[in-house]
Amino acid sequence: MRYGVVVCPHCGNAKGVELADETAKCPRCRKGLHVRELKVFAETDSPGKLPLLVGRVQAQVTNAPAQVVELPSKEIVEEYDPLVHDSPMQFAAGLARHHQSVEVRAEMVVRALAKALGRFSERELYEAWREAGLADDRLDDERKRLLVRGVLYEPRPATYGLLG
Ligand SMILES: [Zn+2]
Repeated sequence: MRYGVVVCPHCGNAKGVELADETAKCPRCRKGLHVRELKVFAETDSPGKLPLLVGRVQAQVTNAPAQVVELPSKEIVEEYDPLVHDSPMQFAAGLARHHQSVEVRAEMVVRALAKALGRFSERELYEAWREAGLADDRLDDERKRLLVRGVLYEPRPATYGLLG
């Protein structure tokens, strides 16, 4: 079992989680946490070490609250500009690449592609995901996950758009 320390995006509380879990609950503010969308600040195989790591991370984020969380922003502020970006896929990958979590990167790419192109093809989506560092064997899984979550929709076969 692999354990990690995440920080609640609602209240800034550091918390130990099992990294295989989808969700957890913040003991301080009682809100639900989507574990896989949060930045993992520390990891360990040893549950006994977890309290120490939680304490360290809490001290770290209390001193620098701006770095606390990593959630995909719903709104892409940057504009695609063909004079600046090589392609819409490069634009999307560039916005997503610095995120640590694969799920966050995948979703950021979708939002940026939708902003640049409106609808986009599976080929364009996969190209941008590869540019953002997603492994080939994750592409189908991420596409299905985002369809199920209602982020992506498929108005025509192999053509996608942003739903919400
Ligand atoms: Zn909280």
